[in-house]
Formats: sequence, C-alpha cells, structure tokens
Amino acid sequence: MAMAKGNSSVETDISKISNSTIDTDPVYHRYHIETAMTADMSNLPNRFLVEVSRINLLKLIIKESRDYFGKLDVILNRPCVYGVFSGPIGGFAPRPNHCVGCLRCTIQHPDVVTIKHNPEWKSWGDTYLSPKLVDTILTEASTGAVPVKGQGYRGRFGGPGWDRIWTDMSEIVRPTRDGIHGREFISTVTDIGSKPMHLSFNSKGEIIGTEPATLSTQLPILFDSPPQTIKSAKLLNVLSKSAQEIDSLAFMPINGILGCKLSGKHLVPQVNSSEIELIQKLNFSPRLIEALDISAVKSLSNQNIKTCFRIDFDEGWEELMHKAFDIGVRVFHMVADYHGRGDGNFIRDLIIKTHKDFVKKGIRDQVTLIGSGGIAAAEHVPKAIICGFDAVALDTPLLAAIQAQPKGECISSEFSNFVLPKSFTVSWGVQRVKNLCAAWRDQLLEIMGAMGIREVRRMRGELGRAMFQKDLEKEAFGDIDGYE
Ligand code: SF4
Repeated sequence: MAMAKGNSSVETDISKISNSTIDTDPVYHRYHIETAMTADMSNLPNRFLVEVSRINLLKLIIKESRDYFGKLDVILNRPCVYGVFSGPIGGFAPRPNHCVGCLRCTIQHPDVVTIKHNPEWKSWGDTYLSPKLVDTILTEASTGAVPVKGQGYRGRFGGPGWDRIWTDMSEIVRPTRDGIHGREFISTVTDIGSKPMHLSFNSKGEIIGTEPATLSTQLPILFDSPPQTIKSAKLLNVLSKSAQEIDSLAFMPINGILGCKLSGKHLVPQVNSSEIELIQKLNFSPRLIEALDISAVKSLSNQNIKTCFRIDFDEGWEELMHKAFDIGVRVFHMVADYHGRGDGNFIRDLIIKTHKDFVKKGIRDQVTLIGSGGIAAAEHVPKAIICGFDAVALDTPLLAAIQAQPKGECISSEFSNFVLPKSFTVSWGVQRVKNLCAAWRDQLLEIMGAMGIREVRRMRGELGRAMFQKDLEKEAFGDIDGYE
C-alpha cells in the first residue's frame, strides 16, 4: 500500500493528500444526487387498527335509511375524509392503511368504530428512532424527496432532545430563500482536517507557515460503521458504494474492508492498536484512518498517517480528547449512543460544551468535530451543526432506510439487534441510501436558505441563530415565583 512519507505531523500529511485531489477539470459541475423511485421491500404495518362492529353498522344504516329516506347523499355519507370507509362496501371492509388517527369517526359513531394503535407498528422503531420517524425515513428513502404531508406541523412545540432547539428562519434574513430551487447556490461542502487560525505571507505573496490541511466532502453527512451485531457484507457494500457515489466518507472496520475487498478514498478504515499492521494490506491509500483507542493514535502518529480519533462519550472522554490533540490529532469523531446520550447528557449539550471550549482556547478552526448518535431526522443535521459539529456520521437512519427492523430497544452498537430484509440487493440499498441523503440535503438547503446562510461551513456553531426552549421559558417565566 502506498502511504505518504516524510512529514512529521498528522496535519501536514492531510495537506498533501488534499492537494493531490484538487480537481483539475475546469468544467463546473453543480453537485447533485441522482434520485430514483425505489419502493419499499416490505410495507410497514398500519399505524392504526380500525375496528368496525358490523351489526351496529347495519343498524346505523337501517336507522339512517328510515330517518333520511330518499336522501342518498346523507345515507351514504362517510365520516372519514381520508377514505378509510370509501371502499366498494364502505365500513364493512375498512382500509386502515389510510387512517391518520384523527378520531373523528369514533367520536361521531362510538358504537360502530373503534380506533386502536397497532402494536405491530411499534415494533418498527424504538423509543428514540420512533416508528413515526422510521415512516418518514422510508418515504425519503423511497422517493428521494422532502416528505410533504400538507397538514402543517402537528407535533409539540418543544420537547426532549433536538426538539428543545428552534432555528431562526425570519423572512428578513432570506437572501438565498427557497433553498432547493433558489437563485443562489448554497454550498454543503464540508472541510475535514485542520485550518490555521490565520494565514501568513512573505513579501512575494507566498504563503509561509501553516497551510490548511483539509480534505473536502460534498456533504456534512457521512456514514458511520454499522452496529457490531450486524455482520453483513451486503450492507458494507451498500454503505461503501453509496458513500462513493455521493462523494461522502464511510467509516468501516478494517477487517470488513479487507474481507469484502472494498477499495476507494471514500473509505475510512477503523483500527485499534492491534490492527495497525492490517493497514499495509489495503489496496488503496485512505485519506483518513480512524483510531479506535489512544494507543492506535500514538502508533498512527509515529507512522505519519492522517488520523481521526473516535471517542465515545464515556467518563473521561475530555481527557482522552486533550491527549489525542497533544499527539497531533485534529479530527475527532465523537460518538453518543443511538439515543444521543453520553456521559449523562444529551449529545446537544456535549457538543455545545466541546465547541465552546475550543473557541475559548482560540483553536476551533484547527479541529474538525464529527458527531454520531441521536441523529435520527433531517432537521437534526442542521441543529447538530449549529451546536458545533462540522459534520455528522449517520448510523441507525441508514439501517431504517434499507428497512432493517430493530429488535427491541437499540441503544448501543454492541448490543443492538436489527433484522435486515432477506432479499435486498446492493443496488436497491445504494439507491435507498442515496435517496435518503438527497432528501436530507434538500431539507438542509431549505433551512439554510430560510436562515440566509450560503454555506454549511458558516453554520457551524452559529448558536446565535438558534433559540433554545429553556432560554425562552426562562425569559417568559423566570420572574414568576416557583419557576425552576
Ligand atoms: S380515525 Fe380519522 S382517519 Fe382514521 S378512520 Fe377515523 S376518521 Fe378516518
């Protein structure tokens, strides 16, 4: 395997690779992800069970026929505008797949109709990546488009996790409005690596001192390695190929890369200290390697290989991060569990703290922070970036996109179980993942357009452009006795 040689630090090494990948083709290509309708393999169970008492329905029809004799439009009137009772024999064969749970029918005819939650539907998610979110992901993965329900927002105006943040989308700051179809291009290019806090030039205008040492991806959306419980070559192929096609990066265990004979600069091999030797067996030079422990960081820095350090938000993660920084690591992959929790906090608070610490030290631009865990919907991506991540690496949403069914609560990578669809093909999976990324990118563009931000790099850490439920509540109720 050919590795870059002769430089003394991790940063310089990345710079070399970065320069070597500069596009020399003068033709401008606007970044675009090809989408295509890709139907689900198996349909999700209906969200609601619609139970109709046929005897009571018959009694109702007889009564209404008597009361409204001759007024067919009244007698045949159905109580559901969503068409649940609009089949050929109406309420005798309801169509629960149309039911949205508005409960109008059961309020109007409590003796005839009962609406219940379908317990089977719940088995397609867990308490964090809820079946409702899975449903949205499936729509995005099959259409590649932003899901439009036409019902407005029907959820809560605050809540746990990312729902405690609102983004500032005032009309007045919308020079790039209409993100997807807007007049001005909004860039989602993300730099991964280290940039100096300033550039220095000599009298000839040449750069002296430290130069930016970054590689770029077209999206701030990367792919994390699958849960340790899933050993599927097909899945690794799906992640690798889709990352390659959308110009992203896929983190992957080095054994999986070697075992599946995968290759390409879009792959980020993950190694622990006992797997360093395996790097020589790769048939490509990776742009970045992920160290899974601090000993691996040391070995990689000795070998002059550009490194990303994966840190779980467990006790002592901050000291580990500082240690790795001192060794020369400038890219950190910070990992919460699949429910976004780590070290007793939600990932939102952890990243805000980390981002602010680096800002306080005056070295924020020297590091890249990538986050995983708890990113389960399109709007979580911009919120995570506003809180301080440069990019996110997706985990469970990618599995949801290819209809992997969770078995029980899925919290940690070590113990979460998913059942992959039996007959899925790599090409089907790749298109589903590409569709999901296209839909999430479009939603990112919408939010950035609405906020008047023209490139995602400028959104990182823009906490002033977000509103936090806690702050607003304090502002409104802080003076009232008993608040908090
Ligand atoms: S709950 Fe609403 S959507 Fe469902 S069947 Fe009744 S009226 Fe139709």
